Amino acid sequence: MTIANKLARPELVEMVAYQSARRGQSGGNCWLNANEAPGTGQYQLNSFGINRYPDFQPTNLINAYSNYAGVEPNQILASRGADEGIDVLIRTFCRAHKDKILICPPTYGMYAISAQTQGCEAVTVPLIGDHYQLDTDSIAKSLTDVKLVFICSPNNPTGHLIDHHQIKQVLEQCKDRAIVVVDEAYIEFCPEQTVVSWLKEYSNLVILRTLSKAYALAGLRCGFTLASTDIIAMMSKVIAPYPIAAPVAEIASDALNGDGITTMTIRVKECNKLKEDFTLWLEKQSWCDEVFNSDANFILLRSKQAKQIFNCLSENGLLIRDQSKQYRLENCLRISIGSANELALVKNTLATQEDL
Ligand SMILES: *Cc1c(COP(=O)(O)O)cnc(C)c1O
Repeated sequence: MTIANKLARPELVEMVAYQSARRGQSGGNCWLNANEAPGTGQYQLNSFGINRYPDFQPTNLINAYSNYAGVEPNQILASRGADEGIDVLIRTFCRAHKDKILICPPTYGMYAISAQTQGCEAVTVPLIGDHYQLDTDSIAKSLTDVKLVFICSPNNPTGHLIDHHQIKQVLEQCKDRAIVVVDEAYIEFCPEQTVVSWLKEYSNLVILRTLSKAYALAGLRCGFTLASTDIIAMMSKVIAPYPIAAPVAEIASDALNGDGITTMTIRVKECNKLKEDFTLWLEKQSWCDEVFNSDANFILLRSKQAKQIFNCLSENGLLIRDQSKQYRLENCLRISIGSANELALVKNTLATQEDL
């Protein structure tokens, strides 16, 4: 037995790390497997002050996000991606081997992974119905020891929004006993659907945001937790002392100024148009059994030939994400809405496959 295996917490020895798009899959020259935006912005860095530690929460960045999201600066915590927000929430509110989180699969994988690394159980209450919505009755019955309920809307990987009445219902059910975390990683693709204004009304609401998707800054690692001031203050005790590197704060603040927001809005419009066209094309393909309605920057499809499609694309350097192991997503593949050229490559590659 290795020293690491002998001494590590037992739950980690058995655990399989998250197979992210940059860890599980490699190679390829067209990446449509991580819901990143196509193309990069132009940013200039200034090295003045780089000999100093950065602010715990860089003022420029927090003020810029405050203006953008319409939330007070002391209701915002910036972190290394929304992923760190998830992790800090679990480490702040869940005691190992005691407290639990509740998740609604099929959904984003990092909630369960972060829970597992904290030694915290994830109770699952699957999404139900054709539109993959919450089973609010079962959620109400499953709240014993649950401190955090994760709701992803639009949901990754289905692309569906979760009904606002249902989210409100869960907030009521959880009042004074659990925090409801609404993950809005994709909210820029349907901005009118944000629940950010509910923060005034519900002290147990937490919202997660990121610059990785619509803002085209996945490589920057910058996300935000929006919540009541007391939740933010508690999380601030747990997060690293300098979570945001100075160059990250500089680029992120730039992306959140007026021009940056305009650029993002144009990108979102283009993405939503490409998504519509791609959906129509998919619906016409004989091998495609189902296209999920998406409010995000990706499309989930179902096909009995999913394996063949995945392999054929991958042999041609086109990487997409296989979701068929997820609950209720047998034979499902997720394709990010990349550039027009990238989607044309996908279409052409599949159109010339004789066995499809
Ligand atoms: C991509 C994604 C995240 C993580 O975002 P980062 O800011 O890059 O860590 C969180 N939640 C969902 C649902 C995502 O799809």
